[in-house]
Amino acid sequence: MPGGVSSPVRAFRAVGGDPIFISSGAGPELVDVDGRRYLDLVSAYGPLILGHAHPAVVSAISQQAEKGTSYGAPTEAETDLVESLLEHLPSMDMARLVSSGTEATMSAIRVARGATGRDVVVKFAGGYHGHQDYLLAEAGSGVATLGIPGSAGVPDAFAALTAVLPYNDLAAVQHFFAERGDLVAAVIVEPVAGNMGVVPGRADFLGGLRALTTRHGSVLVFDEVITGFRLGLGGAQARYGITPDMTCLGKVIGGGLPLAAYGGRRDLMSMVAPEGPVYQAGTLSGNPLATAAGLATLRVLLEEDPYPELEAAAAALVKVLQEGARSSGIELTVNSVGSMLTPFFNPGPVTDYASAGASDGAAYARLFHRLLELGVYTPPSQFESWFISLPLARTGMERLFERVSGAFAAV
Ligand code: PLP
Repeated sequence: MPGGVSSPVRAFRAVGGDPIFISSGAGPELVDVDGRRYLDLVSAYGPLILGHAHPAVVSAISQQAEKGTSYGAPTEAETDLVESLLEHLPSMDMARLVSSGTEATMSAIRVARGATGRDVVVKFAGGYHGHQDYLLAEAGSGVATLGIPGSAGVPDAFAALTAVLPYNDLAAVQHFFAERGDLVAAVIVEPVAGNMGVVPGRADFLGGLRALTTRHGSVLVFDEVITGFRLGLGGAQARYGITPDMTCLGKVIGGGLPLAAYGGRRDLMSMVAPEGPVYQAGTLSGNPLATAAGLATLRVLLEEDPYPELEAAAAALVKVLQEGARSSGIELTVNSVGSMLTPFFNPGPVTDYASAGASDGAAYARLFHRLLELGVYTPPSQFESWFISLPLARTGMERLFERVSGAFAAV
């Protein structure tokens, strides 16, 4: 296996050392193959808002498994899940289920191109939208972690159709649109970036994207693969009060199984086969196990409304990080939105990929390794979000604070 892993960030390349191998997870904790326990702030890179092996999710999956794992035909549960997505994200009139966030963004871009008859896509430096050819340029997440400028294997002709602009820089977008706006099929953006570490989009930046894309007939795609149902039932778009044309979802809506979705305005989604000429398909799309896990997760989120609790826990952790850094004389900027946060070893402010990249990666690596020794699993990269899960917020915060406070002396 390249790097010994199934996805690059899991290798500890940026922080040094070898990955821990996991044997199980329960609630807020992971257990490795040597029996060591870790409070988990990775949350499988976002999906596990309810923590590991939540009883409602486990029961939904096992009940469904008894009835079969895939049918290659429609199910009521898929309809229920999509109805729930549409109810909470009123910007979407229709949606299609897929199996990964990459598929969701790839398909949304194809729809935007099919609908506009244009080819150019605008993305932002440090934004990660999966590993499709068009969106890897200056990407965040593992691409940033490994210091790769783009990816080998992406034809220049494809890369030439992607414009990469600085995040939170509305003037740069205005300038680009003034020159090439009428060629732009889509602008794709993480409204709260999670893949250069957490960097909130400024309201005027996101509002400006809405206005410019409307004026030029381009499709505004909000990539809410991380933020959907993570920042609240309505995602980032409800938080900012901005209505995108299309939305990509993933992670939380699959409850830890491979499930994602893309959706948007009816006129755009009606372009998708079999209603329209834009082709997109998948053998395991809307998979019954994944759908059951997603529905069970959304049900718990609806019933319990855990968002205020998650947010309070994240705010408390931000304080503990800041105090730990201050007491050790370390300059730290902690960005957080809802239950997503990232400590940057950097005086800040961190508002874009350049300022995120100005962080001291060696200091991050020391914090990471000390936390790991103390029994806390954080992302092995400066360019990822830490995620609070509900069981962590409810039962793990005191242990977490003690370990985090204890870790800074080693930084
Ligand atoms: N979009 C965003 C914002 C993501 O964070 C990710 C993955 O981390 C993706 C898209 C791609 O999702 P997947 O890894 O499921 O293909």
